[in-house]
Amino acid sequence: MARTIIVLLGCPGAGKGTQAPVIRKLLGIPQISTGGILRDEIVADTRLGRVVKERMKAGGLVSDDIVNHLVAQRIRKDDCALGFILDGYPRTVQQAQTFQMELTDTEEIVAMDIDVDIETLVLRLKSRLQCKCCNAVYNLETATPRFEGLCDHCGIGLVQRDDDREEVVRERFRTYQDHTRPLVEYFQGYGVYHRVDGMKPTDEVSRSITKILQNRGIRSMKRTSTSFRLPVLTL
Ligand code: AMP
Repeated sequence: MARTIIVLLGCPGAGKGTQAPVIRKLLGIPQISTGGILRDEIVADTRLGRVVKERMKAGGLVSDDIVNHLVAQRIRKDDCALGFILDGYPRTVQQAQTFQMELTDTEEIVAMDIDVDIETLVLRLKSRLQCKCCNAVYNLETATPRFEGLCDHCGIGLVQRDDDREEVVRERFRTYQDHTRPLVEYFQGYGVYHRVDGMKPTDEVSRSITKILQNRGIRSMKRTSTSFRLPVLTL
């Protein structure tokens, strides 16, 4: 079956991690965050985690080969059978080309670029906190947890990411401009690119994204009980 693939573009802090769960609920397809997968490797202190740790801390990109391999493995899992949301991948034209080789012609890609200016990003990321356990994102200005410093879902302490410090954010923004910005033209070339104004309040951004999906005729892929009703055999 043809899968629907939502690619979330946008600088760090643009709101990809906030909007991906909204799309996940709407369409019933999983969210794949390469940053999340890599952070899990670091926390688990695996060989891969040790390889990528310094690179991520400095705000640079992890090698294309590593992330391409991680994504190729992840999208073969059963939960990706109807589609998936890519949060933070591809981040280079090479990644996009390698990823497309994994797909068939009938699979539909929609790229959404959540656009925000650099000073807003620095402000946002300085006040961003994340749950170590489920990766839920909070913001001390705009999306505070119910209990100070604790995740609403897990009750676990929230932390600031090493790479959310101002100098690292500026480096990540430069990395984005140099390596990821060319993807705008890349996806425009396929007629699947949509810009979303990420300076608007979160709810408005979600509404813009929902509208783009509706206009492209992309609907929920949640299975309903009727989809699995067995035919009645008359003998
Ligand atoms: P994110 O959580 O998406 O902001 O990613 C955090 C960090 O993980 C990035 O700054 C990169 O160091 C690394 N990373 C995540 N996704 C990719 C990717 N597709 N390609 C290369 N590095 C990545």
